[in-house]
Amino acid sequence: MTPKEFDAKHLWHPYSNIVKPGPMHVIAGAEGVWLTRDDGVRMIDAMSSWWCALHGHRHPFITRAMHEQLEVMPHVMFGGLTHEPATRLGQRMLDLLPDQLDRIFYCDSGSVAVEIAMKMAVQYQMAMGRRDKVQFATIRGGYHGDTWKAMSVCDPVTGMHGLFRGALSIQHFLPRPAIALGQEWPDDPVQNGLGSMARLLEEKGDRIAGMILEPTVQGAGGMYFYHPEYLRAARRLCDQYGVILIFDEIATGFGRTGKLFGMDHAGVAPDIICLGKALTGGHISFAATVTTSEVARGIGESEAGVFMHGPTYMANPLACAAGAASLDLVIKGDWTDQVAAIETQLRTELAPARNLPGVRDVRVLGAIGVIEMHGEVDAEDAHRLAGELGVWLRPFARKIYTMPPYIITADELSRVTAAMIRLAKRAA
Ligand SMILES: *Cc1c(COP(=O)(O)O)cnc(C)c1O
Repeated sequence: MTPKEFDAKHLWHPYSNIVKPGPMHVIAGAEGVWLTRDDGVRMIDAMSSWWCALHGHRHPFITRAMHEQLEVMPHVMFGGLTHEPATRLGQRMLDLLPDQLDRIFYCDSGSVAVEIAMKMAVQYQMAMGRRDKVQFATIRGGYHGDTWKAMSVCDPVTGMHGLFRGALSIQHFLPRPAIALGQEWPDDPVQNGLGSMARLLEEKGDRIAGMILEPTVQGAGGMYFYHPEYLRAARRLCDQYGVILIFDEIATGFGRTGKLFGMDHAGVAPDIICLGKALTGGHISFAATVTTSEVARGIGESEAGVFMHGPTYMANPLACAAGAASLDLVIKGDWTDQVAAIETQLRTELAPARNLPGVRDVRVLGAIGVIEMHGEVDAEDAHRLAGELGVWLRPFARKIYTMPPYIITADELSRVTAAMIRLAKRAA
């Protein structure tokens, strides 16, 4: 059997139907922005492999750090043991995060980082003697991962609530923030959505442990950019009602939105932050949940004391080494000019799509470019054309979008925007 035949017969893929497997490219290598298929055809990875490969694939600085770590110690348990790569990565994270976020919990993937954040919020409330605070508030259009508790705060319509009705915890969904980034902020609480947020917390605040939001940019739930004033209000109201504010920066972290974090558009910090995806520059699965000393001590000084989580591969040294190297590159700071240039070029080159039939909206923020259609886009069409276009795009729902690696050149990016416009024309 060829890899393709074996794959079709035996392997699951993300969100796939085993009875009707979709088309498949076999990838033999990845370097910089390029993916190379087993037949030698090359495609620009306009998705950064699901938004992870910030500095491009197989970045020599990151792979060297991983090779060195591999020779010393690929893994060791974290219970009762620690190691230098964990502290090295931790120091880099403290350098980048707001001062008050200084207690780091490492784990394997974004969804697990969200589980940990939600568990921390509930355990903190219990520690404070507020045992009724076990529910969560969020906004529609969000995406926080595929594990059980994370699913419960994903958009109830486009997420998993339809399929898993009755099996998921019931949470409180506010409308998607109506005012987009860049629009004028109206003071009317009905228009700006703060009325419903204030009402929810006033009525149900004594049952709500935490509010979880993707700051400024909603990713997989719809690629929507909303007004940062909403986040400032969330911070105020969460403080007022003793609700733990969780920012899920798994998609938005490390410069993707043009600022270091999505929350930096609003200038507010949460009580708990989730980091993942680009944390290792797309080299190996890893994530972290970081909280304040106040939350951590609150849990620690309670009767139970112990925070009840501990993944087997917690703080995996190989992943920590990759993460520390990737953050070295982030701290070095080339991304600020790179992302600004990508943003300018995306704005210019995607603007003509606005006038195409079938196009509903075109929006750009940082290194994120979106063409939103009126109807569903056929992802298999993008797949079929990828070789010919030399660009790997994976549209979902009504969106044709790119989140390229920051190292992409202007010529390569032009190829990506041309491919997006070609797909938009075909989808109309
Ligand atoms: C991708 C993503 C997750 C889930 O991360 P995984 O590593 O896929 O588990 C959670 N939240 C946001 C905002 C994401 O984009």
